[in-house]
Amino acid sequence: MKRPLVVHVERLREGKTETLEEQIDPSLLDIADEELACNEPVRLSAEVYLVDTWLIVKMSLTATVVLPCSFCNEPFILPITIEEQLHEEPLENIKGGLFDLLPLVREALLLAIPFYPQCGTTLCLNRGKIEKFLKKSEEQELK
Ligand SMILES: [Zn+2]
Repeated sequence: MKRPLVVHVERLREGKTETLEEQIDPSLLDIADEELACNEPVRLSAEVYLVDTWLIVKMSLTATVVLPCSFCNEPFILPITIEEQLHEEPLENIKGGLFDLLPLVREALLLAIPFYPQCGTTLCLNRGKIEKFLKKSEEQELK
């Protein structure tokens, strides 16, 4: 299998920067589950370089996931944009001079998904409807 996201540390010696522009097949990222779907390619652009004994990755990501709203439970499309996120990896952790960006991309995406996603960017679009409904049923319970 082609691994376009593997960086060869040796190629970065003497101050070289490697630039990656990739579309990542979401199935490689393995972030989908029963609740979450990721069907569109994830776009990655990254710069990788060495500073002393560190490998520095500066990456930007755009992705689209579909997941249920935490409020009304309707599935909705959530665009994810991550800009110039920095990652520093000690070279001593990099085995065989090869560093795979894929786990990094996966982690960044998972962290970017809000804990309580709501279908209207910051608020559920159906919130008004549901709150009315909740209020009604509370009133009924009080009777
Ligand atoms: Zn909602």
